[in-house]
Amino acid sequence: MRIAHIASEAVPIAKTGGLADVTGALAKALGRMGHRIFLVMPLYRRSLNGPPDGEPVMPEIDAGGFRFRVFRKRIGPVDYLLLDAPRLFARPGPYGTPDGDYPDNPVRFAAFARAAILTIAGIAGGADILHCHDWQSALVPLLLGRDPALGGAMASTPTVLTIHNLAYQGSFEPWVIDAARLPRNLFTPDGFELYGTVNYLKGGILAADRLTTVSPRYAQEILTPAFGYGLEKVLTARKDRLSGILNGLDTAVWNPSTDPHLARNYSRRDVTRGKRICRTALAAELFLDDDDSPLVAIVSRMAEQKGIDLVAAAIDGIVAAGLRIAVLGAGDDDLQNDIVNACRRHPGRAAVRIGYDEAHAHRSYAGADFLLMPSRFEPCGLGQMIALRYGTLPVVNPVGGLADTVRDLAAEPETGNGFRIAALSPEGLIAALSRAASIIWNPSRLLQARRRAMAEDHAWTRPARQYEALYAELLG
Ligand code: ADP
Repeated sequence: MRIAHIASEAVPIAKTGGLADVTGALAKALGRMGHRIFLVMPLYRRSLNGPPDGEPVMPEIDAGGFRFRVFRKRIGPVDYLLLDAPRLFARPGPYGTPDGDYPDNPVRFAAFARAAILTIAGIAGGADILHCHDWQSALVPLLLGRDPALGGAMASTPTVLTIHNLAYQGSFEPWVIDAARLPRNLFTPDGFELYGTVNYLKGGILAADRLTTVSPRYAQEILTPAFGYGLEKVLTARKDRLSGILNGLDTAVWNPSTDPHLARNYSRRDVTRGKRICRTALAAELFLDDDDSPLVAIVSRMAEQKGIDLVAAAIDGIVAAGLRIAVLGAGDDDLQNDIVNACRRHPGRAAVRIGYDEAHAHRSYAGADFLLMPSRFEPCGLGQMIALRYGTLPVVNPVGGLADTVRDLAAEPETGNGFRIAALSPEGLIAALSRAASIIWNPSRLLQARRRAMAEDHAWTRPARQYEALYAELLG
């Protein structure tokens, strides 16, 4: 099959979050399976450190008045098609600066959606499937058949829209319709209008042939007001087209037996010894006491979504329960300060590193006994899957992808791989961690659980096959 992914970011070219990991890894996995894969994304000159090499691969594109040049970069089995419109995309960051989003984002990503369609129409052979990701490319399915500026290009090509996080919808005031030169007749309930605003994601949800989320549980949850962010009715209307496919992990990067960042590499065979050495090293790095007490780690964006406020309120109790805690994270200033202040009260028992630090993240996953993820919602979550691979038992709020991947060792002694938090509150976190801590004193049970966790298959092969099956179904 010829498949075009359309996204605002993808590894290894541009990344601000998990979206880039998924688009890049999925494209690569599908390419390795023998499909012809294009990944269409904006060219952020900063991510290439300057203008691209080589010549544009087709004549300049006019996307509703915005001119794009198209560059091609082949990486592994994937053809990255980079859409260059310096006035729109040569900026310090893809979506904004620390002070906020760019005010012309609706214009930028409307132009990108059009340019992506015209680009794919312009390559010899086109594409059999257009696979869009999140609000930045959600206009693609909507515009395909209904935008006169596209002249019917690709109009009947089947489309898939994957929702990676429903909290981001591309919701704007109606003035953007003219500013982005979008057809005014799309400002209706069967287009992108939602309660008097323009909502790009909503338009895509109605127009795409198939919808997916990044875990099966999240696909169910977003049909409810608690998780639907105002789109639950729209999604419910299309629920027969909606399914969930759990993300995979880059198992070459996340592998404790080859990970270059660890004090000692280990596998299932020598996990007890390996993790003990990694734990001692992690404790020393953070000036935590060197003793046998269980060590719980957090590796997370500092955001309300991730329950970091609950962690800050629980640290006194976690330490009182006899655990040590090591936090790595960056994000919201207030949450960072709350965590720093709570850790200051417990030298030797609680420590935090503020910042985005890839190497330290690897050492945290390897050195900790438990990984705490008290997320309020979690479309998929990578942290718990990485933890499992490192023999680190996840302690999670069972929502979204966390519910799909973590089974409680008390409820399922034979198949469990972690612990589920029963009540999402500081007390609930402390209770779950106390329960988890008790397994440390039962070495054979701990070893069994760790080995079971490490044996799980979270590679991209399975999800890529599920997407392949979805495409095949669409093509009949
Ligand atoms: P989200 O994409 O919502 O932030 P995920 O769990 O899907 O959450 O993915 C988070 C990824 O980012 C994981 O790979 C995690 O290791 C990494 N990460 C998060 N915070 C940090 C940090 N401060 N330093 C290094 N890596 C981090």
